[in-house]
Order: sequence, then C-alpha cells, then structure tokens
Amino acid sequence: MFTYQSTLNNSQLEELIQICGASNVLFKEEDKEIYGSDETEDYFFVPAVVVKPASADEISKIMKIANRDGIPVTPRGAGTGLSGGALPVFGGIVLSTERLNRIIEIDERNLQATVEPGVINQVFRDAVEEKGLFYPPDPASRGSCFWEEIWLKMRVDPKP
Ligand SMILES: Cc1cc2nc3c(=O)[nH]c(=O)nc-3n(C[C@H](O)[C@H](O)[C@H](O)COP(=O)(O)OP(=O)(O)OC[C@H]3O[C@@H](n4cnc5c(N)ncnc54)[C@H](O)[C@@H]3O)c2cc1C
Repeated sequence: MFTYQSTLNNSQLEELIQICGASNVLFKEEDKEIYGSDETEDYFFVPAVVVKPASADEISKIMKIANRDGIPVTPRGAGTGLSGGALPVFGGIVLSTERLNRIIEIDERNLQATVEPGVINQVFRDAVEEKGLFYPPDPASRGSCFWEEIWLKMRVDPKP
C-alpha cells in the first residue's frame, strides 16, 4: 500500500532551507495560509510547507527529498485556477513557481520563446508585442496568472 507523509519534521525543513534559503521556505501558519486556497470556491487545504525554488537545480533537490520520504508535492503557479488543481489536498509541500519569472529568450526568427514557468501571462504578452509579435492566449486572469505549462518552449504567432 502507498503511504505518504503529509507533515514534515524539523530535519526535513532544515534540508529545504539549505536548498532555497530561509526566506523561501514558509512553514508558519500565517505565512502559508494563502497557499491553502486558489480561486476555486470554498476549498481550503493548508500545506505543511511552501517552498519557492529559483532554479531547476533547486527543484530537483526538493523532489529528491520528497521522493525519498514519500512527501506529496503540489506545484503552484499564481493560484488563479478554478478547478482546485493547485490545492495541496494531501498536505506536504506546495512548490511555488513565483520566483521562476524570467523570459530567457524570444527567438523572433523561429517564433519560439523560452520562459520560466512563473512569468505572468500579460508580462509575456507585452514582451512579444514590443517585438511586433502576438501571443494569442488571453484569459481574463492574464494580469496575474502564470505562463505555467510544463514545457518551457512555446510558439508565438505573427501579429495578424
Ligand atoms: C478572474 C479569473 C478569470 C479567468 N479567466 C480565464 C479565462 O478566460 N480562460 C481560462 O482558460 N482560464 C481562466 N481563468 C482560470 C485560470 O486563470 C487559468 O486556469 C490559469 O491558466 C491558471 O494559472 P495559474 O498560474 O494561476 O495556475 P495555478 O492555479 O497555480 O495552477 C493550475 C494547475 O497547474 C498546475 N501547475 C502550475 N504550475 C505548474 C508547473 N510549473 N508545472 C506543472 N504543473 C503546474 C497546478 O498544480 C494546478 O494543477 C480565470 C481565473 C480567474 C480567477
């Protein structure tokens, strides 16, 4: 039977702090409360800890600890989802991508961009528009939701 650990002990928290730095590991109730809900109505699941990695290397180290100890991990972008996907229903770790917010490259010739997952939709849209390009996805939450696909490469289309 699969078992998991919904809370973390001090030694595990210390390991996460070593990876991300103390200010990017939230475990006090008042700090992590807002990560217990998204824009889905009525649900509230507070995680044991919120981590905010700044690189793929940090994410890899976090995931190694989670796999080693059976700790659930819930990725979270801006928390604007309407179907509860970012809610940590099993406790454990919320892995926030909010510090992964760099547009690495906009390749105008091949109409491809390389971005980190925490880039805000509207910020990306503005960046391609400065180059005369158009990024079509246009959710009403574009000013806050992240470009959050797992793929870090995406297509942009020429302005119509
Ligand atoms: C006012 C309002 C208007 C909206 N309008 C629209 C609309 O017009 N069209 C529309 O489609 N949606 C709309 N939405 C819904 C919402 O904004 C989108 O679903 C948005 O794409 C979610 O992005 P997020 O960064 O907030 O993701 P989150 O809510 O944080 O996460 C969504 C899901 O993606 C997962 N996830 C997040 N980041 C990663 C990652 N890096 N790797 C793997 N998994 C990840 C999470 O675990 C979760 O399951 C609206 C929401 C609001 C509040």
